[in-house]
Amino acid sequence: MVGGLRDVTETRLKEAKRLQAQRLEAIGQLTGGVAHDFNNLLTVLIGTAETLADEVSDPRLSAVAQLNHKASRQGAALTRQLLTFAGRQPLEPAALNVNGPILAMEGLLSSALGETIVLNLQLDPAAGHMRADAAQLEACIVNLCINARDAMPDGGSVTISTEQSASDAVVRISDKGVGMDAETRAKAFEPFFTTKPFGKGSGLGLSMVYGFVRQSGGRIEIESEPGKGTIVSLYFPRLAQTEIPAETSSNGKLDRGSERILIVEDDPMVREFAEGTLLSLGYCVTCAADATEALRKLETEGSFDLVFSDVVMPGAIDGHALAGEVMKQYPLLPVILTTGYADVERISADSKFRPLVKPYSRRQLAEALREAIDSRDH
Ligand code: ADP
Ligand code: MG
Repeated sequence: MVGGLRDVTETRLKEAKRLQAQRLEAIGQLTGGVAHDFNNLLTVLIGTAETLADEVSDPRLSAVAQLNHKASRQGAALTRQLLTFAGRQPLEPAALNVNGPILAMEGLLSSALGETIVLNLQLDPAAGHMRADAAQLEACIVNLCINARDAMPDGGSVTISTEQSASDAVVRISDKGVGMDAETRAKAFEPFFTTKPFGKGSGLGLSMVYGFVRQSGGRIEIESEPGKGTIVSLYFPRLAQTEIPAETSSNGKLDRGSERILIVEDDPMVREFAEGTLLSLGYCVTCAADATEALRKLETEGSFDLVFSDVVMPGAIDGHALAGEVMKQYPLLPVILTTGYADVERISADSKFRPLVKPYSRRQLAEALREAIDSRDH
């Protein structure tokens, strides 16, 4: 009897899910079609308004053209969200470590969440790689964090965690806020569905996340109860280890250079890998096994172009402190920090360059170096 009852509930749940998916599919078709045509129109509007604003000499008319330009760009942003929901946003997928975009945005997220809400990162360095558009993924995470914030008007904490699960790389955003009832849960992904007061919510946040995740070959799940909080989980198919370098090396050559790099790393094997990689890219490499040795070499061995340092190292000075010291003594010398796990949360604050998450690939190392060295030149 009990078994029979449960069975019915499960069938009903499945049926409800199927209907929801069908409904979203239909709305997506419609939305995508409209958004697509609007996008074309807006492209023309933006272009012509730009030309007018530049060419018209009467300042009053030029101001009108600028207003026109601004409004059409806002329209285009709205259209992009609709296209994303419909799974028709042009994406630039690339192999990326699922932790990368989260780390890159940590500072931005903390400030978006405000002072009453604490951002908590629990990133598994082994969560894995996936193929997705990094900028869109960042936009999704921002949307989900804003929703979590809105669900906790009296403050609280938002946790972003990553993990490896079966064949997926998973990102979860959770809060202990007001939660959703069944009806809200069922409609949450629909564009323009919002429970927020007029002018507060657009109802496009979750729908764009939904569309993006599906277009990227993944899926999204919401667990939420009124009063208990919400967990939104994004599942992306994980790339096999062999797919990562193959995927990335297919789109061009590695960035090379001939500058002098100081590697600071206590693990001999990692040091050797970094040294070998940088030598093969043409760089001139010096190694140090800890921060004290690094500071000595900076003082005695002439000028360097970049310091690439591990965070967790034995000895009195760790990577954070080393970065601070370098910034003080050699303000123009860029420092890139790298770490596996526990310290990732602090890195963004200490270095103005994007930290490298271990394990990093040859390509990621090469790109990070070039980016940091080139930004110094400007
Ligand atoms: P908006 O935030 O503009 O309302 P979204 O598409 O982002 O639009 O979300 C739709 C609705 O889903 C919200 O209005 C809210 O009712 C519900 N919702 C989304 N995220 C959460 C959350 N973390 N906690 C509680 N409710 C949420
Ligand atoms: Mg929202």
